[in-house]
Amino acid sequence: MSEFSWRTRQAHLARLSEETFNLLIIGGGITGAGIALDAAARGLKTALIERRDFAAGTSSRSTKLIHGGLRYLEHFDFALVREALRERALLHRLAPHLVEPFPFIVPIYQQSNRNYDHPLKMRAGMFLYDLLAGRHNFARHRRLSVEEALEHAPQLDPQGLQGALLYYDAQTDDARLVVELIKTAHERGACIANQVALTGFTRDAQGQINGAELRDELTGNSFAVKALQCLNATGVWTDELRAFTAGQPANGKHVRPSKGVHLTVSAERLNVTAAWLIPALTGHRFYFVVPWQGRVNIGTTDTDYDEGKDAPGAVAAEVTEILHAINAYFPAAELEPADVITAWAGLRPLISDGASQSTTAVSREEEIFESADGLLSIAGGKLTTYRLMAERIVDRAVTRLRQHNVKAAPIETERIAIGGGNATHDELVELVGRIAQEERLPRATAQHLVNSYGTEAKRIVELMRSDEQLREPLIKNDEALPHVAAEIVYAARYEMALTLADALARRTRLAMLAELQSDAVLIRCADLMAVELGWNVTERIRQIELMRGELSREYAVTD
Ligand SMILES: Cc1cc2nc3c(=O)[nH]c(=O)nc-3n(C[C@H](O)[C@H](O)[C@H](O)COP(=O)(O)OP(=O)(O)OC[C@H]3O[C@@H](n4cnc5c(N)ncnc54)[C@H](O)[C@@H]3O)c2cc1C
Repeated sequence: MSEFSWRTRQAHLARLSEETFNLLIIGGGITGAGIALDAAARGLKTALIERRDFAAGTSSRSTKLIHGGLRYLEHFDFALVREALRERALLHRLAPHLVEPFPFIVPIYQQSNRNYDHPLKMRAGMFLYDLLAGRHNFARHRRLSVEEALEHAPQLDPQGLQGALLYYDAQTDDARLVVELIKTAHERGACIANQVALTGFTRDAQGQINGAELRDELTGNSFAVKALQCLNATGVWTDELRAFTAGQPANGKHVRPSKGVHLTVSAERLNVTAAWLIPALTGHRFYFVVPWQGRVNIGTTDTDYDEGKDAPGAVAAEVTEILHAINAYFPAAELEPADVITAWAGLRPLISDGASQSTTAVSREEEIFESADGLLSIAGGKLTTYRLMAERIVDRAVTRLRQHNVKAAPIETERIAIGGGNATHDELVELVGRIAQEERLPRATAQHLVNSYGTEAKRIVELMRSDEQLREPLIKNDEALPHVAAEIVYAARYEMALTLADALARRTRLAMLAELQSDAVLIRCADLMAVELGWNVTERIRQIELMRGELSREYAVTD
């Protein structure tokens, strides 16, 4: 991968103000990133702008599952589940470092009110899930004995436990998946910049959109970009951009944000070796309890949301609600609010037709909107199905681009490795061993580097070889977090991290995994970024303050 830094961004800003693009994508979450790769790979002259940072919206705050969605079978969304299961297998091949098959377990109790559903119905659902996955399945579901269930979760309540059901899905690192898609799109020629907001559209004499007004969020400078087709991929902000356009479709559909809160706790406090589905105490829902990057994530809630969308946070009542449910099933864990390392919230961009059903019942399918003045918008869907969403919207864009005599090559994304995913699973295992041995690194560190960056871990190794200090762990005395200093340099040089928060929240995921308020870690990381980005002392202090603000608004319990 080539350099993708603030310098690249400068060059891209110049291109944005000078050239005419076939496609301008607004929004750098999973949807926009997937579209950028699809379009660039089809040979379209593609630009993407993101107001904040890549994945700073919903796409860094999901449960991080690449899944068919067992629950959607209850709504008879068989087609949705089947295509998501196919994508699950494909993404495991295209990004084997980032999409990992993982066991999921549902406990079964004698007391029917402790079960999510009747065990026979759940088993039938898993049977169907296996069937829909077909040859793309990781492994078939099976029943676990009480002893086997407790081996996977020693703190699980044994009272009335009759066993459990185990099936397979996959987990990922959502923000890294976005960043690696962005980098791959850049490798294919896409012109991409973060910290650039769309503030309006420009129009031709016929009133058709022919570009956009943009603002560089770092300098406040405004400028215009010319694009034959603009494409809105702004998630829960979709309707804000649609409001700039003329002629909304008559079906009245709109985005209905639904808030989902997660908690991150240490693996010592909640000891699980697989992901668990734990019924919520009220409503027909469950919480996922998922081991992730040395910690355990628990979530999520699902409630209508109409407050500020930029920095949704978890409130104390939501934390209490989640902990009550988890303690009811893992009484030996005795989790308390003090055990919560971080709490974070995301907003689902659900599509509503105005009917007042619960957010849980609203379909997860995506919707494409086309305004009379030519803006294409896409919203809804899931992380898992981003590639298909990209295919569909780029197909629509290609049809519209024909009027400008622009032709596109066939879809290619089924064959393009994502980021450092250009290796098989076995080759990645071998790479872990080689890095550990040749660099004399703990195996956990090598494993973490390969899981996070795939074959690009070699570039982190090069950085460590060039400067011994870059081998040092960022977090001292915590074996669960083997992150090294070189990752911060890599984030700035090869992943367009422009702020301390970009590096700590969305390139590495330390903002989610650790209580980062300690001066030592923030100062160390700011110093590393300063060398790459030319920050003076004042800027370093400002970055640390900005990071602290983001941590307290977006990763701590607000109330
Ligand atoms: C709690 C929760 C759990 C979930 N779990 C899963 C899961 O396990 N698996 C799964 O498959 N899916 C999951 N999802 C769904 C999935 O996360 C979302 O569907 C997906 O992340 C939405 O991505 P997006 O790119 O459409 O939106 P976002 O990620 O929100 O991206 C939109 C981007 O547009 C930018 N933007 C907005 N306005 C402008 C502007 N004017 N100019 C420039 N940029 C702008 C924003 O800054 C933002 O970065 C979950 C969602 C939630 C909330």
